[in-house]
Amino acid sequence: MPDFSALHRQRLLNRLSAELYDLLVIGGGITGAGIALDAALRGIRVALIERQDFAAGTSSRSTKLIHGGLRYLKQLEIKLVQEVGSERAIVHRIAPHLVVAEKMLLPLVRNGSYGKAATSFGLWVYDVLAGVRPEDRRVMLSRAETLAQEPLLRPDLVLGGGLYAEYRSDDARLTLELLKTASQRGADCANYLEAQAFIYEDKRVAGVRASDRLSGQSLEIRARQVVSAAGPWVDELRRADGSLSGKRLHLTKGVHLVFPYERLPLRQSAYFDVPGGRMIFAIPRGRTTYVGTTDTDYRGPKEEPPITTEDVDYLLGGVNHLFPGLGLGRRDVESGWAGLRPLIHQEGKSASELSRKDEIFESPAGLISIAGGKLTGYRKMAERVVNRVAARLARQGRRFAPSSTASTPLCGGDFRDAAEVEAWRSQTARQLGPLGGEAGSLVHLYGRQTAQILARAGQEITPESLLLAQLQFCIEEEMAQRATDFFVRRTGMVYFDIARVRAQQARALAHMQQQLGWDAARLSAERQALEQALRHASDYQPASAYAPA
Ligand code: FAD
Repeated sequence: MPDFSALHRQRLLNRLSAELYDLLVIGGGITGAGIALDAALRGIRVALIERQDFAAGTSSRSTKLIHGGLRYLKQLEIKLVQEVGSERAIVHRIAPHLVVAEKMLLPLVRNGSYGKAATSFGLWVYDVLAGVRPEDRRVMLSRAETLAQEPLLRPDLVLGGGLYAEYRSDDARLTLELLKTASQRGADCANYLEAQAFIYEDKRVAGVRASDRLSGQSLEIRARQVVSAAGPWVDELRRADGSLSGKRLHLTKGVHLVFPYERLPLRQSAYFDVPGGRMIFAIPRGRTTYVGTTDTDYRGPKEEPPITTEDVDYLLGGVNHLFPGLGLGRRDVESGWAGLRPLIHQEGKSASELSRKDEIFESPAGLISIAGGKLTGYRKMAERVVNRVAARLARQGRRFAPSSTASTPLCGGDFRDAAEVEAWRSQTARQLGPLGGEAGSLVHLYGRQTAQILARAGQEITPESLLLAQLQFCIEEEMAQRATDFFVRRTGMVYFDIARVRAQQARALAHMQQQLGWDAARLSAERQALEQALRHASDYQPASAYAPA
């Protein structure tokens, strides 16, 4: 029976310690989630453990684009562009509510990274490699057309532009829907369960000793094969296995800032040059526009990398360079997030030159580790890892089906196409009555599962009852154990509607206390953790205030 509910945690932990799994996955980011789903669909008995909340590592802190990676074309990583480019269409098909087509404007500017002819050719190659349909292929724009497309651009810098196809998404929701779908196919997935040491039998990895970070309970989880998909923590687990040699991780930090839409009212997403030779994105989302990213070497604590005032000033400088009329300042920043790219170290290369290709390591004791890669390429990465696992299990006489993730809709994503998503949004808006304006963001987050939320909201839907209905759904169906799970990763509200979190936090905490049986000490700890998350997203210090770990 699938247990992806915070209300059935103990039952899940009991099963994890009682069973012998075919595969144990360490890490509940997009990579681990993709592996768990691929394995479960093939009939492999799989468990997954995550030491924080699902997606709390890098997979809730990206630019949230399912993209072909135009910059990789510039670095001549043709195979990578081709793979992630064609993956976009697949991920859109299996979750069309969550992976949404979006045109991206690439303004060509004086002294910019891209010239006109090279851009025209590059975007064409990009479309061809990614198999973009002819009607969606790039359009090159004159200077006048570019300025008409985006009147906020600085006229004295703009030489022309390109408009090309990308997809925007929500990284944490994509991770969660993968895990929920895996759980429906029999995977046992638990958050707040940390692998602390490996268990060996006959010198082969045979499981882990794990600790429940919510209760302090310890347990052993046994499996025939163990995969580490621990993102920025991959080298720590390789060290615990005694196999950290050769290639290492190189962590770089990327920061995004969120502005109220009326302060950065772009007509569409844009990817543009900033002084110093890098490029950044600005992406409208609901009542906000977010901007990112920085790319700097990082050595501090991995759980909550800080946003520094230097990061803020860098991004503000970039936006003000191309959109000077807006006069954006620190006071305009509502929220933000910082994430760590788990890249593979290459001698002599700077942060932004490092390859985004994934890498698989196999240790003498049989531990498989995977790191690097992109959100966009998660499905192919998972397929490659599970092929290796299946080949090993085949040596023990087991046979499994090939990967079927390309044709399996994710939870909430059972739509034929974007038109059906739009019809569902209209229907949801009618049901919401005066709150119909919420339908777009609800359908983007939950797809068809909005029906389950509305069923919990009662007859007279108010903003409060809608929020509690979402919360109840996330507790019962999405393993939200903590207030931050709900406000940061299930809904993205700390990033995209921080004022609403401040207004609703007391109500939500009281509801969680009652549903999850928290005592006064737990309630107080949860309140503090949420306050900390709000501060982290919106209160920035200079880099010198953070001592390196
Ligand atoms: P993570 O998401 O970090 O997951 C690893 C998990 O393992 C963590 O949650 C961690 O808590 C857990 N873990 C670690 N140790 C243990 C343990 N001992 N026990 C249990 N669990 C453990 N890609 C795109 O395709 N599009 C983009 O727009 C994009 N933008 C990006 C922007 C930024 C700023 C960054 C940093 C990355 C971006 N990426 C993008 C890349 C993409 O986000 C990452 O490649 C991807 O999220 C990595 O996922 P992961 O599952 O490997 O790692």
